[in-house]
Amino acid sequence: MCGHFFFYQLGVSLNLKLNRAHVRDLAKQRIARLFALASQAVKSDTGQANRYVELALKISMRTRVRIPRELKRSVCRKCHAYLCPGITSRVRVRASRSPHVSVTCLNCGTVRRYLLERDS
Ligand SMILES: [Zn+2]
Repeated sequence: MCGHFFFYQLGVSLNLKLNRAHVRDLAKQRIARLFALASQAVKSDTGQANRYVELALKISMRTRVRIPRELKRSVCRKCHAYLCPGITSRVRVRASRSPHVSVTCLNCGTVRRYLLERDS
C-alpha cells in the first residue's frame, strides 16, 4: 500500500467521521511499519531512519494513536532521532545506587535513564 493512498483514505474517513476504529488500526499498522523501516534504514542512512520516525510521530499526533512504549524508547525525546544502540545511541547499564540503563542520543547528547526492575 502506498503512502498517498493511506493519507487519502485517512482524510476521507476522518472527514466523513466513518469508522474511526478502522482508521486507528491502519495508523497503528503504519506506525509499526515505519519503525521497522527505520530499524533497517539506520544501518546505512540515519537521516532516512529519522524521516521514518518523524512520519510515524506525525501519524500518531494526527490520529491520536499512541506509539507503543518499546518503540517510543527508540526515539530521542529532544531531537526525535531514531536511537539504535551502537549506531545512533550509546547504552550503558549502571549498577551503582539504583540500577538503571542510560541511553545517550549521539545526535544531540540527551541522556535518558530507565530504572531496572529488581527481583526481591
Ligand atoms: Zn537527540
